Parts: sequence; C-alpha cells; structure tokens
Amino acid sequence: MPQEYSMERKQMVERQLKRRDIHDPLVLRAMETVPREAFIPENMHTFAYEDRPLPIGEDQTISQPYIVALMTQALELTPKDRALDIGTGSGYAAAILSRIAEKVYSVERYKSLADTAKERFARLCYDNIWILEGDGTLGWPEHAPYDAIVVTAGGPDVPQALLDQLVVGGRLLIPVGKTLQLQELVRVRRTGQDEFEREKLTDVRFVPLIGEQGWEENAQR
Ligand code: SAH
Repeated sequence: MPQEYSMERKQMVERQLKRRDIHDPLVLRAMETVPREAFIPENMHTFAYEDRPLPIGEDQTISQPYIVALMTQALELTPKDRALDIGTGSGYAAAILSRIAEKVYSVERYKSLADTAKERFARLCYDNIWILEGDGTLGWPEHAPYDAIVVTAGGPDVPQALLDQLVVGGRLLIPVGKTLQLQELVRVRRTGQDEFEREKLTDVRFVPLIGEQGWEENAQR
C-alpha cells in the first residue's frame, strides 16, 4: 500500500510543503514517508494527498497535511525527544511525530478512533507510539515530562496540566480561541521551572478540544 501513492506523496511534499515554509529536513522526510491514505476511510483514498482536512468519523477530521507539517516543524523535534500528542483522531499526526521522535504518547477521547489508530500503527509496524483513551486536557502524567506536546483540537486556553508535563526547554503547540470555530496557533516554551514564553504563530481552524481543561461536552458549535 505505501508504494501505491508514492508519486502523489512526493508531489504533496513539493507543492504543498516546500513551496510554503516547511524546510526542516526531518519533517519533510516524515511527510514523504507516512502513507496518509492508510489513515482515512477507503472510499476517500483518492483524496489522500489533497490540500485539505478530510472526515474520519465521529464528526472529526484528519488535519490538512500542511498544518501537520507546520505544527511538527514548530515543535522543533529531535530524534531523542519524547512527544505527547493530544487528539489522536486518525493517528496521522502521531505517525508523523513517531518518524522523528524517539517515543510518542497519544490521547484520544473516542474509543472507536483510538482503537482504529492502534490497528493502523500495528499494520504499519510503527511500534514507538502508545495510545490512551481518555481526556487529553489532563495530559498523560504517567509518562511525563515530555520534550514536545502537540494538541490538534482547539481549546479556550492552554491547559495547566499540559504546561506541568513539559520539560524545561520543552515546547507545546495548541490552537487557542475564544470561540469553538476559530483559533490562533500558540507555541509555549518552558524556559524555567516557573517560566513560560508564549507566542502566536497563525490563525487556524480545528475541531473543539472537549474536556476538563477544555470546552464542555455540550458547548454550542
Ligand atoms: N491529530 C489528528 C486530528 C484529529 S481531530 C489526526 O492527525 O487525524 C482532533 C481529535 O481530538 C478528535 O479525534 C477529537 O475526538 C479529539 N479530542 C478532542 N478533545 C479531546 C480531549 N480532551 N482528549 C483527547 N482527544 C480529544
């Protein structure tokens, strides 16, 4: 299966990533390696390398390839990093992280999505990713601290639990917005035990982050 779409994948990297601002060789190599079609329903395979998000069930989406690359690049990942991914969804973003970082821990609130992602990782022999079904706004304390944390759902603010689970020098990427529809991508860098630097990168549109330190379950869309 990975062979089948290798041309499309190369083109995606050239046109959608390199022509924009994606230049980290580790990110480009990961994006050229992971078969995005393996993370979407079979009837959508022909759209796998289009420049947009796609539905994955449970009213959720797999992010646009460019956004996954942008966030991964902004995380400044290195091969010895341990990363935490909140919002497993299809598993695609976790798969990209896993081709760069040493270990990836990923949390998803829907059991069906967590189970499907697990099957995909097994099929692809990606054996450095662990998945937890639960509320990712609380992080995954057992394996903390993390060098990098990425949240692929938009919350009202940066969850304190995630800040607490960053190493000093660690980076956290999260879409933050006052409404459920539109967010700013925020990068937080832990510069000391009690010091955090926060910067805004760009406007983004993610599905809501639902949980104890996110939006309420029945918040209005
Ligand atoms: N990274 C995913 C994008 C998934 S969309 C991918 O590459 O496909 C965001 C995901 O976040 C959805 O699957 C949604 O169910 C999940 N989510 C929302 N709030 C969450 C929470 N508090 N904890 C864990 N997952 C959450």
